[in-house]
Amino acid sequence: MGSVEGMTQVPSIKLNNDVEIPQFGFGVFQIDPDETAKAVRDAFEAGYRHIDTAQMYQNEQGVGQAIAESGLPRDEVFVTTKLNNGGHGTESAVRELEKSLERLGLDHVDLYLIHWPQPKQDLYVQTWRGFEQALASGLTRSIGVSNFQPAHLDRLAAETDTVPAVNQIELHPTLTQPELREYHRKHGIATEAWSPIGQGESLTEEAIVALAEKYGRTPAQIVLRWHIQIGNIVFPKSSNPKRIAENIDIFDFELADDDVATIEGLNADKRRGPNPDTFGN
Ligand code: NAD
Repeated sequence: MGSVEGMTQVPSIKLNNDVEIPQFGFGVFQIDPDETAKAVRDAFEAGYRHIDTAQMYQNEQGVGQAIAESGLPRDEVFVTTKLNNGGHGTESAVRELEKSLERLGLDHVDLYLIHWPQPKQDLYVQTWRGFEQALASGLTRSIGVSNFQPAHLDRLAAETDTVPAVNQIELHPTLTQPELREYHRKHGIATEAWSPIGQGESLTEEAIVALAEKYGRTPAQIVLRWHIQIGNIVFPKSSNPKRIAENIDIFDFELADDDVATIEGLNADKRRGPNPDTFGN
């Protein structure tokens, strides 16, 4: 695969363990397992070099197939997967990563996340110890969490030795998560924003449509550019090649500070997904 202009434009963020992550990537939630390899291939063609999958999505195999077929050197692709909710526990966390690696056809991932804290089950601290083991043995280059609230992060800090490299949380214009972002900033945790365009819902917000007209860009590009400017790591999902290319084409313009503030002002603390304090068993 030849060099792609978009790829060089995507900035990297240095995680708290010095591993570099491309700030922009490709999410594969709800992409049919049979269509995943093609979608990831289209993303590589458009310049994406960071793929966000999960055991829950049941499409790790397609991600692995596209990586193998791309011929890209392993160190030019950043791969994240996530432990499924049934896999909590120290040994299980390691064993489940080994199974993911087999499906992906890789000997390590770049980032391994606890998908949901499931506080009622109360195993996330033990699970995190398994993550520390997986890190030490080189099965993953970095470890992090997803959907953790401040109380869950506080417990990891009190009872374990490793600060998560990232917390991947629901974050879009109507759920801007100011408290968690501030917590992350204070503790050196990078913010990853899932459903960055609100699964499409953000694109019809009046203020976003007005900004799209002002900048001559699409609503998706305005929202994704906002995430980049406030420091979030994002990986929008699409299986449409035109949208895949549109979404990464955001590194040649900048939103003015007051327009960034306008988008922040849309916050309504409105979740599309489940509440992490009560989700899971
Ligand atoms: P998203 O905000 O990326 O939106 C995806 C939807 O928007 C799709 O329906 C797509 O067709 C549409 N879309 C994409 N680009 C568009 C464009 N340019 N114009 C118009 N419509 C467009 O939502 P998502 O898939 O939920 O989130 C992105 C990624 O975040 C996922 O693929 C996954 O990797 C991750 N995620 C993680 C969690 C978690 O619990 N950790 C939960 C949900 C998603």
